[in-house]
Amino acid sequence: MEAKAPKLLIDAMLGTLARRLRWLGYDAAYRNDLPDETMIRIAQEEGRLLVTRDRALAQRRGVRALLVRATTVEEQVQEVVKAVGPSLHPPRCTVCNGALVPISVEEAGAWVPPYVAQTQTEFVRCTQCGRVYWPGTHWPGLQRWRPRTSHP
Ligand SMILES: [Zn+2]
Repeated sequence: MEAKAPKLLIDAMLGTLARRLRWLGYDAAYRNDLPDETMIRIAQEEGRLLVTRDRALAQRRGVRALLVRATTVEEQVQEVVKAVGPSLHPPRCTVCNGALVPISVEEAGAWVPPYVAQTQTEFVRCTQCGRVYWPGTHWPGLQRWRPRTSHP
């Protein structure tokens, strides 16, 4: 049986990496506004591997951490994948890290602009922030739409 990819906690300055990893299906929380102590506590409490560019933070006791050395996001993604193994999970919301669930065209019609509902057949929706995604032509491969009205 394949090992499950660990949950990740992405440190400040790695926001683009976090979005890429979510798109690859990694559970990648991202915080850029917290002191080191708090980052360590979150990593411990939520069982997340701390992914950081901060060497001192990565070497702190009591926290599982991965020190990212690469400077380009492509290389950073490769570093993480090499270290933790491939994600076997579907993409997550690139904005909030929520899980994406498939929705029908009819459901999507309530959320997306009419021309999208008429021309697309596959939709997924974030269970946390409500963004709807569908296949697109540009990276990250999907377009997204944030409804103006907020639904839970
Ligand atoms: Zn979301």
